[in-house]
Amino acid sequence: MLLMYFLLRFYFIFSNLTEKGDFLALDLGGSNFRILRVKVTQDKKQPVQMESLVYETPEDIIHGSGTQLFDHVAECLGDFMEKQNIKDKKLPVGFTFSFPCAQTKLDEAVLVTWTKKFKVSGVEGMDVVKLLNKAIKKRGDYEADIMAVVNDTTGTMMTCGFDDQRCEVGIIIGTGTNACYMEELRHIDLVEGDEGRMCINTEWGAFGDDGSLEDLRTEFDREIDRGSLNPGKQLFEKMASGMFMGELVRLILVKMAKEGLLFEGRITPELLTKGKIETKHVSAIEKYARRLHKTVRRLVPDSDVRFLLSESGSAKGAAMVTAVAYRLADQTRQIAQTLAEFRLSKAQLLEVKKRMRTEIENGLGKKTHDSATVKMLPTYVRSTPDGTENGDFLALDLGGTNFRVLLVKIRSGKRRTVEMHNKIYAIPTEVMQGTGEELFDHIVHCISDFLDYMGMKSARLPLGFTFSFPCYQKSLDAGILVNWTKGFKCTDCEGEDVVELLREGIKRKEFDLDVVAVVNDTVGTMMTCAYEEPTCEVGLIAGTGSNACYMEEMRNIETVEGNEGRMCVNMEWGAFGDNGCLDDIRTQYDCAVDENSLNEGKQRYEKMCSGMYLGEIVRNILIDLTKRGFLFRGKISETLKTRGIFETKFLSQIESDRLALLQVRAILQQLGLDSTCDDSIIVKEVCSTVSRRAAQICGAGMAGVVDKIRENRGLDHLDVTVGVDGTLYKLHPHFSRIFHQTVKELAPKCNVNFLLSEDGSGKGAALITAVGCRQRVQEAQQAAQQA
Ligand code: ADP
Ligand code: MG
Repeated sequence: MLLMYFLLRFYFIFSNLTEKGDFLALDLGGSNFRILRVKVTQDKKQPVQMESLVYETPEDIIHGSGTQLFDHVAECLGDFMEKQNIKDKKLPVGFTFSFPCAQTKLDEAVLVTWTKKFKVSGVEGMDVVKLLNKAIKKRGDYEADIMAVVNDTTGTMMTCGFDDQRCEVGIIIGTGTNACYMEELRHIDLVEGDEGRMCINTEWGAFGDDGSLEDLRTEFDREIDRGSLNPGKQLFEKMASGMFMGELVRLILVKMAKEGLLFEGRITPELLTKGKIETKHVSAIEKYARRLHKTVRRLVPDSDVRFLLSESGSAKGAAMVTAVAYRLADQTRQIAQTLAEFRLSKAQLLEVKKRMRTEIENGLGKKTHDSATVKMLPTYVRSTPDGTENGDFLALDLGGTNFRVLLVKIRSGKRRTVEMHNKIYAIPTEVMQGTGEELFDHIVHCISDFLDYMGMKSARLPLGFTFSFPCYQKSLDAGILVNWTKGFKCTDCEGEDVVELLREGIKRKEFDLDVVAVVNDTVGTMMTCAYEEPTCEVGLIAGTGSNACYMEEMRNIETVEGNEGRMCVNMEWGAFGDNGCLDDIRTQYDCAVDENSLNEGKQRYEKMCSGMYLGEIVRNILIDLTKRGFLFRGKISETLKTRGIFETKFLSQIESDRLALLQVRAILQQLGLDSTCDDSIIVKEVCSTVSRRAAQICGAGMAGVVDKIRENRGLDHLDVTVGVDGTLYKLHPHFSRIFHQTVKELAPKCNVNFLLSEDGSGKGAALITAVGCRQRVQEAQQAAQQA
């Protein structure tokens, strides 16, 4: 088996000839130890300028300790920099290290085994970059930034590739022999990813070490191996490379002379001296290269193989690879810097929690309410369900992605059941952004259709209207729309009672319905979960928008008369930050998304953490990274310019742990974004950074809420359940986990349990309607008794 160690995938990027800069290269492992300074410019005539020096590597170092070797290398490098007058600079360094190494990244190489004439103790199994860095640091008189370790075969391929892009194989036939080539990534099991190619250093010198060349090896080969530094190893190399060729010839000549077949049987002391015949002598007698070419062509007659001589390939190539690595490292740094703004520290998140608490107080306070951004709207829902709810109800769900009409049959008693039937209706954009009358006519038309569909046109059922926009309520069945959010923008609705608008629509259609309650989806969600779990006193929506509600003490709700008991407050927390209190954590991308929205300046918190906007934030970052040349080859496609193209569901797909990079690429392809493998890695990182921040700031808000409830009740410790609805929460692979974690970290005195709501806006509306009907009956009875 050939040893295979992988090296780099930057080959084709490099071939674009975009590299430039000043680099150092070390070349260790050939017959000389060389140091080079390579300047890569965009000068077409002479793109690469080199200066180099050869340093002696004394025998005692080649067979000494690792410390000695790397001290020596570091000393030579220092000397070279001194002579070049660059000792005060920290230049990127490429390290050609021509021994078999296992690499998991470009700037790390663990030596597998020494080959050729090297036998230095304490290096095998170690990362040579670390060893060299240590030696440089110990000196302390200069700095170096070792960016890449390259094998000489790769260096050779890269150097030739600089002139001819068709060069995809490198071979070394020098002191040792080795080869590398560009392999398809899908064939390399050791490396993740299926896309593109990577250069494989075959280390073919070790071919035969498992016995597979035994039938070809002669007595001379065996003798050479026995006398070598590494018996049993590098058997192919020992049959084919410069270090051994002369000796092989000498051994054959000795035998032939001994048998009297040569030199008339005379054997001179020189002939008996090991190493006396060198490969250069053989080569002077024989033309070696042409034979190689001819043999290759004979063995692969279907391929047109051309050979290109590399000019100081091993070192120059290292500089090339370093140049690419340097550019990529710089790019990585800049991308990290861009995304760093999205990575919030615990201190920042605690600050978000604290500010949310302040805004909550402002919303609840009589004097502060009018100017408050988080409105803390009373809902007139005074208790969670008690299980006695009973009857058939209609429910409307408006304000989410889908508009739905539902029939909900609630049965109380020992076996409580809730049975639901629903139909989804589209609301065309022109209706969403048309007149109020058109909107409500459309809604009533859908109700009528649904009743027909259910075969109950004549029934006069109580109706709960889930209307997921901020509303001022003065009673359970009246809600004055504060302002539209999300995708809605109908005229003549803001400032109006939406229940009244609905009733008028019903009248226009000439049929009869009893609208009992207007319900926010957060409240519906809380009620649905509370029906199953009595400790549920908080509702959260993480879907198209973001919002929460919870049971607040009446005494704290200064905008409603009365101090007894509790009432559910619809926080409308999406507007958190509209007074500028989150501006220090908002990024330029958040601002861009806001500027392009229907409601500029409004719902700033929601725009940082809900489904409608996360994809847009990602798209804006991607545009910026592309403009700066880090993505999509610097080309901003029409698709990328299209608003809304990057839906939040793609974040979920891209961030899924089960997806290979190739699949990420396929998703981007579907979106019309032609991406490379490296692009996909960056896009994935952008997505996860944006969704992580969303989950964290949402968690910081929730931590503020549960701590408020705890303090309301004067408890050291609170157990509470939060009912949650919303596709972002349900389907994103990481959102809920990070959200839970954040709540736990920021509200350590609360034990918060999360319950997924099943169809909160439908079932919850029916439950609230049932509670409302019960309240009505009670009030009527009370009135009758008084009369
Ligand atoms: P709504 O909040 O509109 O009532 P949902 O809770 O279903 O309805 O949320 C819909 C929103 O969820 C969409 O606007 C979209 O932003 C987001 N979304 C849809 N699919 C996914 C998904 N697979 N992962 C994350 N978010 C999604
Ligand atoms: Mg919803």
